[in-house]
Amino acid sequence: GAKRAGGGQVNFFDAQEHAHEQRLAQQRQRIAEGLDAGEFFLVFQPKVDMQRGTIVGMEALSRWNHAQRGVLMPAEFVPTIEDHELSEQLGEWAIGAAIEAVRQWAAQGRRLSVSVNISAGLLMRADVVRRLSALLERFPERHAGALVLEILETSAIRDIDLAASFIESCRQLGVSVVMDDFGTGYSSLTYLRRLPVSGLKLDQSFVRNVLTDAQDRAILQGVISLAQALGLEVTAEGVETREHGEALLALGCHLAQGFGIARPMPAAEVFGWIDAYEKQPLWKPASDNAPAM
Ligand code: C2E
Ligand code: MG
Ligand code: MG
Ligand code: MG
Repeated sequence: GAKRAGGGQVNFFDAQEHAHEQRLAQQRQRIAEGLDAGEFFLVFQPKVDMQRGTIVGMEALSRWNHAQRGVLMPAEFVPTIEDHELSEQLGEWAIGAAIEAVRQWAAQGRRLSVSVNISAGLLMRADVVRRLSALLERFPERHAGALVLEILETSAIRDIDLAASFIESCRQLGVSVVMDDFGTGYSSLTYLRRLPVSGLKLDQSFVRNVLTDAQDRAILQGVISLAQALGLEVTAEGVETREHGEALLALGCHLAQGFGIARPMPAAEVFGWIDAYEKQPLWKPASDNAPAM
């Protein structure tokens, strides 16, 4: 740490900082070992179109099956490696594993898109595009639109120009990019004009309040209208009940994810879930209810 005047205090803070850095280094070491040992896996949360009654794709979310502690959530390892080269390793692993899942689903006759969350660390890397295209070359049979990357607006606004050129390069590779957790950062809507994202995901904190908080509903309405005017696809995350979905649909947001639709599930459960959902979608197109001619 920086040297400060003031005797013993300096040593105390230095010692604390040192202990913290040591702990962080140990945690990172353990994450690196876990990645090498294949302890990480993906779960998939469906994204549905409420207006059409269809399934649009899956979001891949990382889990760590830690040998001693059991299955750990991203909150336990994503922040630990943010801005560390390990976040690139996790990102590349997640993209590879997600594309592999898409390939297997396609082999069983089902074209689904998959979205992968990527960290600012990966986004900011100079050679990220070269590495992404190398990864994609391993999957030549990948269908168009199969891969979507989700970036946080907080990572994008760190360096707007860099983020914009990253997104543009992704588009050229046939990979679309959406802005995740929209509304939580310093989400100036004007940034959206400079970032060639194909869509945005409304953060759960607004979505949760859509039935009860008139102000959050007004914000949602504004964001949805503006996003549509800009030609962006809008997804609501954190849709926990059918009523939440209906309220969002009324505001013009057609795409949704949330525990009310499905919790994230292992790859092996995806087909079973799809079969069940298609028999009984939570929201049905209006024409389904119309009397037969
Ligand atoms: P996210 O991308 O915004 O993903 C949504 C998170 O909300 C997931 O938590 C999901 O399980 C949870 N969720 C979904 N629907 C609902 C709902 O209806 N109610 C509630 N209360 N929660 C819901 P999870 O899996 O713990 O992931 C948390 C965050 O960690 C993700 O937020 C994403 O930013 C990050 N993350 C996950 N996997 C990766 C990864 O492979 N790499 C990176 N860099 N970040 C990841
Ligand atoms: Mg996400
Ligand atoms: Mg999100
Ligand atoms: Mg989130």
